[in-house]
Amino acid sequence: MLRQSIGLALLASTTAAVPERQAVVRTADPIARGLKVSDFPRTIKVADNVYTYEDFHAGPEKFTTTNMFVVTEDGVLVAHGQGSAAETQKLVDAIRTVTPQPIKYVVICSEHGDHTAGNASFPAGVTYIIHPTSKALLERAPNGWKPPAGAMLVSEKHSIRLGGENIDILFLGRAHTGGDLSVSLPRQRILFLSETFLNRVFPAMRSAYPSEWLTALERAEAMKADIYIAGHGFTEQGPVSNEEIRAYHKALEAVIAEATRLHRAGVPVEDAVRQANWGEYASWTLASSQGPIAIRTVYAELNRQIK
Ligand SMILES: [Zn+2]
Repeated sequence: MLRQSIGLALLASTTAAVPERQAVVRTADPIARGLKVSDFPRTIKVADNVYTYEDFHAGPEKFTTTNMFVVTEDGVLVAHGQGSAAETQKLVDAIRTVTPQPIKYVVICSEHGDHTAGNASFPAGVTYIIHPTSKALLERAPNGWKPPAGAMLVSEKHSIRLGGENIDILFLGRAHTGGDLSVSLPRQRILFLSETFLNRVFPAMRSAYPSEWLTALERAEAMKADIYIAGHGFTEQGPVSNEEIRAYHKALEAVIAEATRLHRAGVPVEDAVRQANWGEYASWTLASSQGPIAIRTVYAELNRQIK
């Protein structure tokens, strides 16, 4: 298949186009990246009919939750929502400024609230696509959005044909949530990885399967996409996105290795939380809040407490 040279272009809510050769600062921090808080939310054109939408995650550290949407002649597919009804409404409105086509599919790539709590703002009648594990978790949760009975279940792979476009919904293995779905666009060679890929955000393991997450990343990289899109952190140009998924893979390996080193040395978990040396990853977004969680989750996996 031909490699396309695809430039990113900002749309609508922002004023300037990305300069031809933007010096990309490799960070999830918008300010360090040279952006302003008021630049968000924003829509980015990734390919002819493929866009990402970036809005801020809740909490004191500013970083983006990133959606992908695919526009076809027979409707739009959206890869997950934002964290509140108001924020997902803004996503729906941003899609409306790009196309009059209706939203037909919403893929629940991660069942976490920052991607599902606003789903009530999607139009009635959309078809939700979800992994069975995510569906069960949402149904069990005391609060939050519940998938409708007619949701389409994908446990391995399902191909959709929409307006002449092939869209593959993939389960690459348990990673950040256990029900992680990805969206592959074979024609455009784009892979939206949701929370399997956190761009310059410290590996977040509250509900993760650390070693299986590495395998999922190997599968993603083996697909040799031109553009990898993260569920948190910025949308990158194709070659940079390839470097950044590699960088994230290395970060996840390093975090698992550090927790494993402490576990093997017999360091009790509470001491390990204090002793962990994250090296260059200590400066990544969420390192201070997610570092201790990573220690506990890797310890749990090594102790065979994760089923
Ligand atoms: Zn998330």
